[in-house]
Amino acid sequence: TRIPQLFSNPFKSCQIAAIMKKSVIVIGAGIAGLAAAIRLSAQGYQVTVFESNPTVGGKVSWIKQDGYQWGLGASLLTFPELVDELFELCGKRPSDYYEYIRLDPITKYFYEDGTTLNAYADKNKLAGEIAEKTKEKKETVLSYLQYLHEIFDLTEHTFLRKSLHRWNTYLTQNAADIFFTNPMKMGLFRTIHKKNESVFKDKRIVQLFDRYATYNGSNPYKAPSVLNIIAHPEFNRGGYIMKDGMPSITQNLYKLAQEMGVVFHLNTTVDEIVVQHKKAVGVKVAGAVYRADTIVCNMDINFAYSKLLSHHKEPVRYTRQEKSTSVIIFYWGMKKKFPQLDVHNILFSSDYEQEFRAISRGEISKDPTVYIFVSSKVNPDHAAPDGENWFTLINVPHDNGQDWEAYVEKYRHIMTEKINRLIGEDIRPYISTEVVNHPQKIREVTQSYMGALYGNSSNKVMSSFLRHPNFSSDIKDLYFCGGSVHPGGGVPVCLLSAKITADLIQSDNEKRKQHKSLPAAT
Ligand code: FAD
Repeated sequence: TRIPQLFSNPFKSCQIAAIMKKSVIVIGAGIAGLAAAIRLSAQGYQVTVFESNPTVGGKVSWIKQDGYQWGLGASLLTFPELVDELFELCGKRPSDYYEYIRLDPITKYFYEDGTTLNAYADKNKLAGEIAEKTKEKKETVLSYLQYLHEIFDLTEHTFLRKSLHRWNTYLTQNAADIFFTNPMKMGLFRTIHKKNESVFKDKRIVQLFDRYATYNGSNPYKAPSVLNIIAHPEFNRGGYIMKDGMPSITQNLYKLAQEMGVVFHLNTTVDEIVVQHKKAVGVKVAGAVYRADTIVCNMDINFAYSKLLSHHKEPVRYTRQEKSTSVIIFYWGMKKKFPQLDVHNILFSSDYEQEFRAISRGEISKDPTVYIFVSSKVNPDHAAPDGENWFTLINVPHDNGQDWEAYVEKYRHIMTEKINRLIGEDIRPYISTEVVNHPQKIREVTQSYMGALYGNSSNKVMSSFLRHPNFSSDIKDLYFCGGSVHPGGGVPVCLLSAKITADLIQSDNEKRKQHKSLPAAT
């Protein structure tokens, strides 16, 4: 008699359905953790997220002070459709949540010789600008952009959308195409810089395209030229900005996840992944165990092994690889508008090779390239009235115990001198407020090993693609997503990492179900 009673009560039957659902715990609410939680919830799992910080977002969260606000990290958005996909998957309309704007020009470049160059969104206009201001021909630029397109198309499906650690990835036509492509054409045996130098005569344009190595914390003089694919989305698909700032992505993903029934525990650090009989069964938080069928870890892989899985063997072939670069950032509230600047601005160093040589030595060059991002040019609410919010960044080595406070003092001066020189105005009287970030602080706030922005660097062919898998090969039901695992760092790539992980969980569970339903062999 109890069963019909239960089913006649819709609330109780919902509870039963919830109890029957397989459960997942996600450790960390970085962009990949949020995206994985949403995907798994849409697939029917009961998802709980634990996040150490009081807010979600990790490297894509807000910093606010004195009427100014800045995104902590990510500033340029490519492939916005990967964000939209999450909302559409849950039956929602992205435009009900956020708006993004296609930038044109995408970036303004400043060189020490006085040249300024606009990287227009329109390919022909960009090629025209380069041809007008340098020795390059329009056709050379257009054919280079076509080359970016081709290597991206060749590598995208296998290297960015699939796990490289499952044999069935290699049984596709795309994998066969890659296998039969000349490795020289793929760009496995020469560096980004060598390839770009073979195409362009003008050093300024070589430097412009070499810069894309820094988008995953690598060195263009070491990283293989196949990584020129990093420049493809911006030049061939467009560069975007979220109208309400990059952190509005993670804030809206948080909202969406809650609407999908995901439960969040903020200010809550996971201390251990509980493993029994080589299976992940839950997490330990302040001594209490929370059980789940599956665990997804969005924590940096190095810290995940040293802190959460300290009793288990660390896969040193992944964890001991060279780490990516980090940054020093001055978030400045400027009490004046600067028409010389656009939204994204690059003030190049005079000797790029020397800049990366210094980083390889664990130092910072005397003349680093300065990046200035001003989101208040698109959304004035991000700055005090009549002011601008400057996010002013230089690339630096990952943390190896350097004296970062001393570097901050030194580079505040070097960077302001360089900006004054290249934009033709003394900015110092207009800095009304300042927040600073450096590798040690980034390590503390986002729990990123050595303060590296993108986990391992991609300075070698193997480290470019063979990152830690999205699953554990020793511990059942333990999966990984985020910038330190496959396919790597950066907002769109982290979103793909979440997709690969959620797809693997789904397909592994389906395989198990099929296996159970097979008649026993006689
Ligand atoms: P993270 O952002 O690293 O977040 C991990 C989260 O897990 C954190 O919130 C942390 O608190 C939490 N956590 C860790 N351990 C635990 C634990 N034990 N218990 C509970 N919670 C835990 N990308 C772009 O695409 N475009 C850009 O322009 C760009 N610029 C960048 C500039 C800077 C300065 C930085 C820092 C990054 C930039 N990136 C950019 C990179 C991009 O922001 C990152 O690759 C991406 O956001 C990383 O996301 P993630 O999911 O790996 O997690």
